[in-house]
Amino acid sequence: MSKSQPKCPICEKEVAGRDENEAFPFCSKRCKQRDLGKWLGGNYAVAGRPAGPHEIAHEIQRDSD
Ligand SMILES: [Zn+2]
Repeated sequence: MSKSQPKCPICEKEVAGRDENEAFPFCSKRCKQRDLGKWLGGNYAVAGRPAGPHEIAHEIQRDSD
C-alpha cells in the first residue's frame, strides 16, 4: 500500500504525525536535538556562524578602546 509514513531523518524510525508529535519531522526530541547539533557543529556550519548584533557591538567597543 502507499501509506507514506514519514521517517525520522536521524534514526529512520517511523515518525508520528505532526498532530501527535511535537518533534516532527523527527521521531523524538532527542533526534531533533541531534539534527540541530549536526547543523550547529557539523559540516554545515563551516563557513562560520554569523555574528550577532551583540558580538558586533562588542567588537566595535574593543576596537575603539
Ligand atoms: Zn529518530
